[in-house]
Amino acid sequence: KLHNTILELKGNIRVFCRVRPPLPDDIPCAEGKVISYPATTEALGQGIDLLQNGQKYSFTFDQVFTPDASQEDVFVEISQLVQSALDGYKVCIFAYGQTGSGKTYTMMGKPGHPEQKGLIPRSLEQIFQTRQSLLSQGWTYEMQVSMLEIYNETIRDLLLTNRDLSRIENGTSGKQYAIKHDANGNTHVSDLTIVDVRSTREVSFLLDQAANSRSVGKTQMNEQSSRSHFVFTLRISGINESTDQQVQGVLNLIDLAGSERLSKSGSTGDRLKETQAINKSLSSLSDVIFALAKKEDHVPFRHSKLTYLLQPCLGGDSKTLMFVNISPDPSSLGESLCSLRFAARVN
Ligand code: ADP
Ligand code: MG
Repeated sequence: KLHNTILELKGNIRVFCRVRPPLPDDIPCAEGKVISYPATTEALGQGIDLLQNGQKYSFTFDQVFTPDASQEDVFVEISQLVQSALDGYKVCIFAYGQTGSGKTYTMMGKPGHPEQKGLIPRSLEQIFQTRQSLLSQGWTYEMQVSMLEIYNETIRDLLLTNRDLSRIENGTSGKQYAIKHDANGNTHVSDLTIVDVRSTREVSFLLDQAANSRSVGKTQMNEQSSRSHFVFTLRISGINESTDQQVQGVLNLIDLAGSERLSKSGSTGDRLKETQAINKSLSSLSDVIFALAKKEDHVPFRHSKLTYLLQPCLGGDSKTLMFVNISPDPSSLGESLCSLRFAARVN
């Protein structure tokens, strides 16, 4: 009973923690810094402890994935949530964490290793399979994809054509990317490319295009993809001719900008501006989710582009899942602690 009460209080927000395995480049050992996974007997959630300089910090989340959890193990836990987008729900799944903690791995997977594909490709496969099986019950679905990134509080369309790109280069594109929400809770971003899709293959093609388009802004020192939020949106509209039912669902899959703090990332010029923009949007995301979880009257959606863009998919009866990705590298323990505190606040 307690279990249900807590779930109700928390509304439709879940937080999963995932610790990635150590990598060859990680600094192997640091005394007195340990991440451990206490066995919890609680009905709700699982624990993770961080030990730093003799001090223990304990956190509980809806789910904790240890380094040996496979992509499949993770997907099993979210497949129902993904499925609910076909039932007409608005769903957001975020990956939060410092750069190198496994956000992109969780979302997209490892390039060239299909067995390690992440939850974006897995979600699409499941959705298109289910769509096929629902045909016999009279359901037909239309799907549309858009992909954008938010960099320094500015939206960039990741599905532009070469013609669009050359117009942007010579400053004649005139694209605005103004965000508007209509009375039905649908979001429109002016000038944003929206593509009708009929198969996983078509979406894979678009994901490749988006990845190429993201790396255009990459500089030597500073990989832009870790400094911007990536937002993948699948709009689903279903209609059942025999029962006259209609559903409109949205699945947003968001690979957030790296959450590392200012001191570590340097603090002058463009980099400072970038970091401030990231801090602003991550803290406003936390504020929004916190306000929603607490059922506060005022939810500060308008404080950042990201939260304003996702407004209809965060409130109401929409469903939100936040992955907090953690690096096991002992030198990252300070950042890990910040990430866990962030997540614990919205949990
Ligand atoms: P981020 O997107 O948070 O900056 P990445 O997803 O790029 O981090 O992960 C950093 C590195 O760690 C990549 O080489 C990635 O393949 C690897 N990695 C992350 N998570 C895992 C995991 N669960 N299993 C295996 N390798 C992982
Ligand atoms: Mg990444």
